[in-house]
Amino acid sequence: MGVMRGYTLRDKRGRAFEANVADCVNIDRTPKVREQILEGEFHRVPNPSGDGRVSVEKTFFYADFSRGQFFLVLPRWDRLRWQAASHDLRAMMAHFPEFLVPSMKRKVRVVCGLAELREKLLVFDAEFDDRLVEMLKSLIQFEHPFLLQHPRLNIELDRVTADSVEFVATYDHRPERYRIGYPRRLIDDLFAYRGYLEESLQEMGKALDVPDEPDPLWINHRRTAPHTWALVQLDRYAREIERNPRVVIDIDSNQFEKMLQLLPRGSELSPGAKKDLLILRGWSGTQERKKNPGEFLKEELWEIYFGKELKGGQAILKPDAVERLWKVLDGLNGGDFEGNSYIDQIHLGLTGNGSFYKPSTDDIGIDRSALAKGQSYDPSWFEQVVLHEVGHGVHARHQKEVDKMLEQDFGWARYGTSQDGIDKWIKKMGGYPGGTTGQQQQQIRSYIRQSVGNGKKWRAPARPQVPRDHPWHTEDFGPRLACERTVQGRGASRWYDCSAGWYGQGSLRFFVNYYYGELMIVNEDALAYVKSRALDTYALMAPPEFFAELYMTVHATHRKLAERVRKLDRDLVQYVRSLGEEREDRGGQEANGDRRRRMGPITREKRKPPKARHRG
Ligand SMILES: [Zn+2]
Repeated sequence: MGVMRGYTLRDKRGRAFEANVADCVNIDRTPKVREQILEGEFHRVPNPSGDGRVSVEKTFFYADFSRGQFFLVLPRWDRLRWQAASHDLRAMMAHFPEFLVPSMKRKVRVVCGLAELREKLLVFDAEFDDRLVEMLKSLIQFEHPFLLQHPRLNIELDRVTADSVEFVATYDHRPERYRIGYPRRLIDDLFAYRGYLEESLQEMGKALDVPDEPDPLWINHRRTAPHTWALVQLDRYAREIERNPRVVIDIDSNQFEKMLQLLPRGSELSPGAKKDLLILRGWSGTQERKKNPGEFLKEELWEIYFGKELKGGQAILKPDAVERLWKVLDGLNGGDFEGNSYIDQIHLGLTGNGSFYKPSTDDIGIDRSALAKGQSYDPSWFEQVVLHEVGHGVHARHQKEVDKMLEQDFGWARYGTSQDGIDKWIKKMGGYPGGTTGQQQQQIRSYIRQSVGNGKKWRAPARPQVPRDHPWHTEDFGPRLACERTVQGRGASRWYDCSAGWYGQGSLRFFVNYYYGELMIVNEDALAYVKSRALDTYALMAPPEFFAELYMTVHATHRKLAERVRKLDRDLVQYVRSLGEEREDRGGQEANGDRRRRMGPITREKRKPPKARHRG
């Protein structure tokens, strides 16, 4: 599965609530998520401050190995970070072995927001070139200039049918919506002029005189908009100043001049851009630009901020004083949504009984207070997430071999709750208590099923009610103890965090996975890796997650993670590394799952058990 985790979210009124949102989605493992995204249902949570539901905008990694789609999805308000995100994503793609998805077949994109994500899926499903689709958006604005009458316009592809290609235009802060459609035939004909269109695409970029990257990963019409370019520059200056408040910036350079000219003004500035502008303003002090001697840079910046020339008249707006207040407020704000104050547009009689209009700005983000200032995500988090999913991919590629390794080296086994599954699990613990009747065995199976629950849960269900004199209560009856000791009491955390208390026989540990609704076995070597923190506790979720976490640890390069690999057995590390490399000659042996003959001895008998190493 992708990695869904409980996050603390905050609504605009600052109220905290919990929701399961994704660090990563893996479409091969959970195809349903793709449907949810297309239906606009993904990452929707009940609106904590009102009716209906809102979207959670959050950074996550989207992986679809079969379609070759790999997206780093940013919250839509982090658009101006697209270059850093592209850089990181490109670096991450180096972790993908060529044999999993050949580079030529990869669609690697930075995507800003859930609406854009949905759009990308539609575009690629229709087998359109996304650059051309973005060009159509310019065409739409050209044909319907009235759309430009309000700032913060969004145009997104919404539907592709055999007959039509339809876009929807909306505004961040206005209720108007428009549907703009083209006949499908027309678009197919237009896209057939691909060579010509590419030329004009480049021409348009040049006409704007805005430097663009040669091979950008964010394919969106906003990218070449002068506004976006200027906002990216502004954000860079702001980050530089944050890193070093005494940084030297050439405020008379052409680049700086152009940025000031092209920055959106007043209400067109997003809250993030306003913050950046204030950082630059704080830095500018009493500097004057050569171009405007006698005028302070900070005054130019205020004019951009308010979108007005400040010629007196605005008695309330004493910018320097208001700024101090704003900064205090901003410092108190740990949330990750747009701005400090909320603004809801009220439309009387819009949908009867004078209801409130709920703009898309209701959307919320996660609490980012743990992240360094200005970051959309933690780089080590990104690497973990990507490597975990690559691990799943590599596992699928070497399924039999890896399954065998997990069983032999780490004792992994899993059973369903059918009669056969339960009996096998019980047998591994020495079988039913002596003298139990067939009927009592039947009852024991039912107690086990009750202890497992119905799946999709992170916590234990209530214990079964069993008469005192039932063989279930036999002292040292392993299966009962395994069920009871999976978690430490009611309300305890997730089972895989509780491995210290799991029931054991010899080197094996027995527990219940409430999410899959399965009966599990693993050995103490696996537990030792978790105890030493070589692996995250999530590795004890199930065998595939164990391998994904193992793969992640072995390949991690980030400083925070590289420490862990030293705690792993060296032969094991080498073996896992070799799986991620392309070995054309593997074919036959791989199918046999006979790793030992080829890779040399790395089974427990031959290699030092990890436990012994950790003791030292
Ligand atoms: Zn996983």
